[in-house]
Amino acid sequence: MKRLLIVLFALLFCIPVFASGGKNTTDKEQTADLSGVKEISTSVRTVTAPIIIDRPVRLTEYRKRLTREYAFRHYGEEFTEIVPQAVIVHWTESPEADGVYEYFYKEARADGTLNVCSQFLVDRDGTIFRLTPETMLDRHAIGYNWCAIGIENVGGVDRKEDLTPEQLQADVLLIRYLWEKYPTVRYVWGHYQQKSAEKSGLYKESVSGYYHAKVDPGPKFMKALQKNLKDTGLLFFKP
Ligand SMILES: [Zn+2]
Repeated sequence: MKRLLIVLFALLFCIPVFASGGKNTTDKEQTADLSGVKEISTSVRTVTAPIIIDRPVRLTEYRKRLTREYAFRHYGEEFTEIVPQAVIVHWTESPEADGVYEYFYKEARADGTLNVCSQFLVDRDGTIFRLTPETMLDRHAIGYNWCAIGIENVGGVDRKEDLTPEQLQADVLLIRYLWEKYPTVRYVWGHYQQKSAEKSGLYKESVSGYYHAKVDPGPKFMKALQKNLKDTGLLFFKP
């Protein structure tokens, strides 16, 4: 990068000097170009992406239509893309990634509405799968799907707080990556913290009484996440 900038500077300075006989023109060109370089160098963001394996669910026109319908019913307007402002952490209450993937795979639930799904699925060994595009509206958290990216962690069978150190590490890297990539992301909470999360002002739901109490992914995991992401300034709720 440094080398590239040096070459860029050299080009900006040298070529006009060699190519142009008029000093005034050269000065003018240099000034204009230099400000451009400054702008570029400060606007570049370093995004450290963990290894993410794309394993998409059925991303069809049918899924898009169901997504628009879901958005209209629950948020009052049709859309399929979100501006992420929060990351919501889940567990799957099941022991294997394959089963979860199959469950999320199809477009519709039995009642013909949009199937549940999250953007990411983290296996017991810390492998990160991306199931849908990161900014696609996915149905994983009532009231927040319009603004939240979901991370599912395989585990939590019988509500046991059994997520692994590898999953913790993967979630930390993944959330850090999302925070770096999307400056609009300010919050992280566990699904069980959905009531406290209303303090964020992000809760939005048109269907009255639509609510399910949750326990995932447990306070132990959320405490550990908060500790490992302290330097980011991301906002958490009391575990
Ligand atoms: Zn959940």
